[in-house]
Amino acid sequence: MKQITSGTEIVLLGTAGGPRLRTNRAGIASAVVVGDALYLVDFGYGACRQSKLAGLDLGHLRAGFVTHLHSDHIADLANLLLFGWYENLENVTRPVRLYGPGSRGRVAAPSADLRAQDVVCPDDPMPGFAATIGHLTQAFATDINDRMRDNGRSHPGRLLAAYDIELPASVPFDPETAAAPPMDPLTVYRDDRVEVTAVLVQHAPMSPAYAFRFDTADGSVVFSGDTGVCDNVITLATGADVLVHEVIDEQWVQRTHGAVDTPRARATIAHHTTAHTPIPDVGRVAQKAGVGTLVLNHLVPAQIDRPRWHEAGEHFTGRLIVGEDLERIPLVP
Ligand SMILES: [Zn+2]
Repeated sequence: MKQITSGTEIVLLGTAGGPRLRTNRAGIASAVVVGDALYLVDFGYGACRQSKLAGLDLGHLRAGFVTHLHSDHIADLANLLLFGWYENLENVTRPVRLYGPGSRGRVAAPSADLRAQDVVCPDDPMPGFAATIGHLTQAFATDINDRMRDNGRSHPGRLLAAYDIELPASVPFDPETAAAPPMDPLTVYRDDRVEVTAVLVQHAPMSPAYAFRFDTADGSVVFSGDTGVCDNVITLATGADVLVHEVIDEQWVQRTHGAVDTPRARATIAHHTTAHTPIPDVGRVAQKAGVGTLVLNHLVPAQIDRPRWHEAGEHFTGRLIVGEDLERIPLVP
């Protein structure tokens, strides 16, 4: 099996940002492979198929981590739930633990001068991660129950267990006024191969949103998730070997959305420039954290030429990698 390596390896499964169907990149998803143990971070569209193309075996999956509940990070959770039976998830000795953000409880106010619209699912308009998995199971209950009764497949609860990340009361999180207050990294998961810690990041109105750090015997890697420039990411990434960070081409934002002045255009520009990290800034973040390697992923827009992404290196003296789908990056080069 390809995933058995002597050292720890990062596999970029999908590197496209945003809820668009791209032909050159799959949706955002990454793997950390520590010997024969597999961990996944985010489940953008195509994540399960990309795992298979990378030679990774879901039968070795120990835990999965969801940075936030935007569709481009979780669309493939349904495929994990529904196809996992046939991809060796039934071989796991205990349910794979999946962690993601809890509900923030409140629907966001309309951006800028957009008018308020009716919400969908008014009885539960902001489900957290564990509830989302529950709703997915309900949506596919006909299939799941038939396969359990007709094919003898296991109850999905034996394969997967979903948990909301619980913020301690000492963290003054508020979805409107403090989406990413300064905080000490929070331990989310630990086993004999990894310790995974998390901090809140700035991706409002989507919150809570998290960055994750994996500490292994070989070194450390941080995944920023989706965030604007955020001191918590620098705190989490300080001393790490690799920082896998999102990035947006701020010039593309202005070119694409700045030509017309409409409420939707203003709201889109405001979101892209505060909830994501422009190219010049991502290098500065990596430099401040002092990481050895900066890997760019969640590229927005996903289809533009590579040269612009390399401008991130103007403010970073370490090694810069512009991520490609299925790229394998040893934790320690
Ligand atoms: Zn997002």
